[in-house]
Amino acid sequence: MARRLTAGATLVLATHNKGKLADFETLLAPLGAVVVSAGDLGLPEPDETAPDFVGNARIKALAAALASGHPALADDSGFSVAALDGAPGVHSARWAGKPADFAAAMTRVHAGIGASEDRRAWFTSALCLAWPDGHTATFLGRVEGHTVWPPRGAGGFGYDPIFVPLGETHSYAEMTSAQKNAASHRARALAQLTAALSVIPVV
Ligand code: IMP
Repeated sequence: MARRLTAGATLVLATHNKGKLADFETLLAPLGAVVVSAGDLGLPEPDETAPDFVGNARIKALAAALASGHPALADDSGFSVAALDGAPGVHSARWAGKPADFAAAMTRVHAGIGASEDRRAWFTSALCLAWPDGHTATFLGRVEGHTVWPPRGAGGFGYDPIFVPLGETHSYAEMTSAQKNAASHRARALAQLTAALSVIPVV
């Protein structure tokens, strides 16, 4: 069944990650949906037990949609490094530990790359939109680039300071939110979602 998100509808953002929330504020502004976060609603964070981004996005979106009674959007994303065979990948958040220490996680990435000349890296975002009846739609976005060391820039979150997208000279952390989200992995997944679900931006 075709699903639509209409302007003015409530959309639950199934994340407790402040960096993702900030990105989504920029990305979702044109959609005209009333966005509330899972944190605001006091929803619990489900365990991310799937082996891939798509599976974990579905777990988070479905849990929030079923618990809230509203459509829910979840992002499962991560940073992958070619010289590390795609790690940290789905383990990106776990590499930072709890409480999250991304300086340590970026140092671990840098140490893992070592003397390798292969600096290719990419970000992946799986977005899942789930409805309270259990229907889901999932979309993948990816941005290729390379790692830099030392980390650059004070904006963004997570691994942003060590990633420069293909064709750019600035790291994600040196960009404004609008620059990063003009073509980020999350923006690419969201563009597919809006096209597939006939979401009409309110401009
Ligand atoms: P998740 O909540 O399991 O999807 O965790 C995703 C993790 O991937 C985040 O905690 C960050 O470490 C990393 N990540 C995902 N997207 C980005 C981004 O846009 N910039 C920097 N790090 C990101």
